[in-house]
Amino acid sequence: MSDRGERLVDLSEVVGWQRPPLPPGSAIGILGSGQLGRMLAQAAARLGFNVHIYCPTSGPAFDVSRHTTKAAFDDRAALTVFAERVDVITYEFENVPVDAVRLLAGRKPVAPGLQALSVAQDRLSEKTFLRDLGLPLARFESVDSEAALAAALQTLDAPCLLKTRRFGYDGKGQVALQPGDDVALAWQEMAGHPAVLEQRVSFAQELSVLLVRGRDGGMASYDCPTNTHQDGILRSSVVPGDLPLSVYTQAVAMAEKVATALDYVGVLAVELFYTGGEANGSDAAGDAGPDAGGTPGVPLVINEIAPRVHNSGHWTSEACVVDQFENHMRAIAGWPLGPCGRHSDCEMTNLLGDDVAGWLDLARESEGRLHIYGKREARDGRKMGHITRLKQRT
Ligand code: AMP
Repeated sequence: MSDRGERLVDLSEVVGWQRPPLPPGSAIGILGSGQLGRMLAQAAARLGFNVHIYCPTSGPAFDVSRHTTKAAFDDRAALTVFAERVDVITYEFENVPVDAVRLLAGRKPVAPGLQALSVAQDRLSEKTFLRDLGLPLARFESVDSEAALAAALQTLDAPCLLKTRRFGYDGKGQVALQPGDDVALAWQEMAGHPAVLEQRVSFAQELSVLLVRGRDGGMASYDCPTNTHQDGILRSSVVPGDLPLSVYTQAVAMAEKVATALDYVGVLAVELFYTGGEANGSDAAGDAGPDAGGTPGVPLVINEIAPRVHNSGHWTSEACVVDQFENHMRAIAGWPLGPCGRHSDCEMTNLLGDDVAGWLDLARESEGRLHIYGKREARDGRKMGHITRLKQRT
């Protein structure tokens, strides 16, 4: 809800959930054709569903799905036909145009819902929504001009990060600002796009909570891996992570608060910064850096939410009985959620760009399970696949 108690998007036309669980043989529509769509499609197929991918461009998900529609997200006729052919619709990335999803949601259930999508698409709506829930965030200011940026820098002290409100991911659309940096130059980098200036958080670790919420509101969450990033891109996830239990519990409670407020259905990723110490303990750090925001005594700051399955949950495919992809399918189909417990320790490593050229050596590893997404061009930093290496359980 906004400050005025209004919904951020009009949900009056949305088709609801008053229907029984979808039986095997039903059709799942997925918007987007990337690797997440591919892994969702594979999980859906394993449960006996038929998958229909809709995307303006073909991609890894097209190769493994029974039906595909290659059409623009503003092609109302193609969207309408797609909606007629499927029983429930989900998406694998958060930048699907809200108008397309609104049209679909008037015809078939869409999960996660419009509210989650519109909040996650715009960093300002997202931060406002999270702040209204009382969750800890880095201090931020909305910025839509060079003058506004200069003013915001008077309120927040550099170091800061200037981020485009929309279409930023893996550190793209971001500029780091140090004290004394050229404001005009930083604003130019935004290319006229509205942005958010946020205080840089001094963190000990980045983490993500992966939670699944069913149609009935039941929730379960996976273990928190320790994630390592390189140039803003996830490099590896190790489970078990080294987060204190009190912090994990607090992070999960925050993610549950978000999911409940959004009446969320499916897998939700909440990305956070951990600043050190125990939660609610005497040594709680709650220090996100000089005046960076957060909440005193709470050693967590939420960075962003992703209304979808997430790269930092790929390890669940090898180390859990029911992985994030299957649980997303179970949730949106109205099935019972599967257990999120971990039976093995492991490390997931992304294969970025040319890493995938080492596929033959990787395939020889006895403890590794290799996933290659089938993308034709191995551009620098592009996610081409991943490998999950199982370890002796500690
Ligand atoms: P994002 O696109 O917002 O997920 O940011 C990409 C990466 O930039 C994050 O995974 C962090 O490593 C870093 N980052 C983003 N925002 C902040 C912040 N406020 N303070 C410190 N690091 C950040």
